[in-house]
Amino acid sequence: ERRVTLVTREVSSLPAGRGSRGSRGRSCKWKDMLRFSHISQCMDLDIERDYLSLCVNQPIGKKLFHLFCRSRPDLQNNISLLDALVCVDTLEHNNNNNNNNNHFIHRAPWARQKSLELNPCIDVFHDCRESMHEYLCGEPFVQYQDSLFFDRFLQWKMLERQPITKQAFRQYRLLGKGGFGEVWACQVRATGMMYACKKLQKTHVKMRKGETMALNEKQILEGLNSRFVVNLAYAYETKHALCMVLTMMSGGDLKFHIHNVGVPGLDKDRVRFYAAEVCCGLIHLHRNSILYRDLKPENILLDDHGHIRISDLGLAVRLSEGSVVRGMVGTLGYMAPEVIGHKHYGTSVDWWGLGCLVYEMTAGQPPLRLKGEHPKPSEMERRIQKEELEYGDKFSKEVKDLCSSLLTKNPRERLGCRGSGGREVQSHLFFQSINFRMLEAGLVEPPFKPDPRLVYCTDVHDIEEFSSVKGVSLDQRDHDFYCKFHSGSIPITWQNEMIETRCFSELNIFGPDGSRSPDLDW
Ligand code: ADP
Ligand code: MG
Ligand code: MG
Repeated sequence: ERRVTLVTREVSSLPAGRGSRGSRGRSCKWKDMLRFSHISQCMDLDIERDYLSLCVNQPIGKKLFHLFCRSRPDLQNNISLLDALVCVDTLEHNNNNNNNNNHFIHRAPWARQKSLELNPCIDVFHDCRESMHEYLCGEPFVQYQDSLFFDRFLQWKMLERQPITKQAFRQYRLLGKGGFGEVWACQVRATGMMYACKKLQKTHVKMRKGETMALNEKQILEGLNSRFVVNLAYAYETKHALCMVLTMMSGGDLKFHIHNVGVPGLDKDRVRFYAAEVCCGLIHLHRNSILYRDLKPENILLDDHGHIRISDLGLAVRLSEGSVVRGMVGTLGYMAPEVIGHKHYGTSVDWWGLGCLVYEMTAGQPPLRLKGEHPKPSEMERRIQKEELEYGDKFSKEVKDLCSSLLTKNPRERLGCRGSGGREVQSHLFFQSINFRMLEAGLVEPPFKPDPRLVYCTDVHDIEEFSSVKGVSLDQRDHDFYCKFHSGSIPITWQNEMIETRCFSELNIFGPDGSRSPDLDW
């Protein structure tokens, strides 16, 4: 009975497939919803005049800055070169492994040739890209801010900062249930973009003192932007709930794929691919000083195409400069020995978590537990700290070596914790066939694509809707907390939504002489 269920009715009630892109699903009034304000109304916007943020990191900002440069004969070449560097970076080479720069060695200037021979994985064009930005962030950046392209950027920013309410979305089927409320499929009316809306019932949050946890998850997510971690697109409130609108992941979680589809466990190519993507996600989190602390199969979600993302960052924590934390946090079966031992710990716990994940994907059962066994907590703690793991015949030499290096009890000797961090994990023999630069650019085809007709979860029908708890009253202090939470659109995700759904290209029209847009006078 715990099987993949065919739920055609629900799937077909979602427009244009589940990860809907393109114009389908937009409201017929979409242009009114995304109408630019007159430029004079945008002048007071509080915008930090920072080159990196305005012209590199924000997707719409970058597009408009590039349009500006292309309109200037003296800057055109700079932009063409920057674009060419992006292409070169992600070019597929014949030798599809980590040594993906061999191709360039014989073309590079002599000094470069030497360093490439020593280390074929270095980013060949790093210096070139840097000096390009160094030039552009000077005079060109100043001139850009006086141009109509920047005026247009301000108009987009004004739209981005519109208050968000539940009216902005259509709601579809229930996707899952969390500790404080349900997660629903939803669609932005203006653009047609599909997302997952995680609702936290205000009364449940208050009753279970979940305010810090909820705000923590929201604030950590809004500071991240990785293709291997769910993105936050909007945070808003309704009368009864706080809502986080997240990347839609409709292919189910890894727990389901490991245990409920066919023979328990996954084939070698999927194990390698998911492990590699999770590894990139962890590196991104750690680079941003975030410890994840809750790595387990049910928190790794698949999208329509078969890529994975890390989700549920409720237990994640921000480390202040080089620090460590303490606290027995996570899910017992996946906790590292140093967590159980009440020691101070850092990123080592996530590499242990990756070891558990690779083990479970390969063996079809979690480490240190027999099938269907539920040991007492004290017994589980003893096993994690003392017992050696057993690797059955499903483990190849490479995967066994990866697991035992990640599941090393002493965090100082664990793979990923011995100096070069996650890069050391990526260069393990098990990942030899993975080209991480291609993977990070989203250019590696997943080994498995979820069937769009299937719903990969056990009992969607049995999930009950949350009702609000009686007898909990909400007051001014709660209101202050809600104000911190409902910040509206998250800039980078929102701008990507505009670009991916083509709303950007359809609305960003400039006037016929290429100099003035009708909307700027409007
Ligand atoms: P909690 O922190 O309360 O455990 P989760 O973030 O784990 O909540 O979400 C609860 C469930 O909702 C998940 O187990 C999953 O089934 C579903 N879910 C969560 N996020 C998404 C998403 N981005 N896309 C699709 N389903 C999701
Ligand atoms: Mg969860
Ligand atoms: Mg959570």
